[in-house]
Amino acid sequence: MFTDLAVPSIAQIIRKGADYLSVEGIPNARLEAEVLLAHALAMERIQLYMRPDQIISLKDRERYQEALVKRGQNMPLAYITGSKEFYSLDLHVNENVLIPRPETELLVDWLLALFSDGKHWHLNNIVELGTGTGAVTVALAYNLLKAGHKDFRIYATDISWAALQVARENIERLQVGEVIELFEGDIYRALPESILSKVGVIVSNPPYIPSGDIGGLAPEIREYEPIGALDGGVEGLDFYGPILDEGRRFLVDGGRVLLEIGDGQGRQVMDMAAKLGYGDIELHADYGARERMVTARWR
Ligand code: GLN
Repeated sequence: MFTDLAVPSIAQIIRKGADYLSVEGIPNARLEAEVLLAHALAMERIQLYMRPDQIISLKDRERYQEALVKRGQNMPLAYITGSKEFYSLDLHVNENVLIPRPETELLVDWLLALFSDGKHWHLNNIVELGTGTGAVTVALAYNLLKAGHKDFRIYATDISWAALQVARENIERLQVGEVIELFEGDIYRALPESILSKVGVIVSNPPYIPSGDIGGLAPEIREYEPIGALDGGVEGLDFYGPILDEGRRFLVDGGRVLLEIGDGQGRQVMDMAAKLGYGDIELHADYGARERMVTARWR
């Protein structure tokens, strides 16, 4: 790829990389070429600008080229660099976990708002189902601890052992292990009996893409992200019933459920919650008026 450049500089190699990505049909080719070069050189992107004339060693060039080829094959940037920012935290990711999405930050906003008024500390046992990278759990724990709170516990589950390894790494990276326990199992399966009727909040971003829509997703998602974290069955609603139904055994009186949903799934998820006896059921949309979350209260 860089054979015509005898001694390529940072500036030259970025241009080449951006050209390559753009030919491969990658949007934001220039930006991504910079991110990948910074990653190959183990630098911050900003440092590239400070030394545009620096010569790149053959070894670094090869590393950069490998990364460009992967990106050209639609591998998501986050899987190549092994990291993704979520709630201003730098999280470790790999192909065993869904890459945290910006819209999922709304779940963290809602949880932090719940605990910020000081009236909800009796809801301090929190369960997260399908934690994946641990993004929601880690961001919540990190921010509550930063605000000086220690009196809470998060029980995070995932059916995937490999995903839990990623969550564990993020927990260690952000030093929030003292308030988090991880459990390997489908939804509630692995949780201890000791927390029955003691859980204040159940939060989940379950798989919710209708099975038939998976094939139409961007290749970055369809070919690389774990299908188990995306496919929510025929209507995309398979997980909401069991989460809401079994959740009733775990929740305290007044406990909350917070579920990420796909746009257009609000009505059905709200109906499920109502039929199961939940109250204060609310649909939350984002700034673009897309349905993003449903919250409900037990009793
Ligand atoms: N928001 C994700 C996407 O669009 C889906 C996440 C999920 O199914 N929970 O790819």
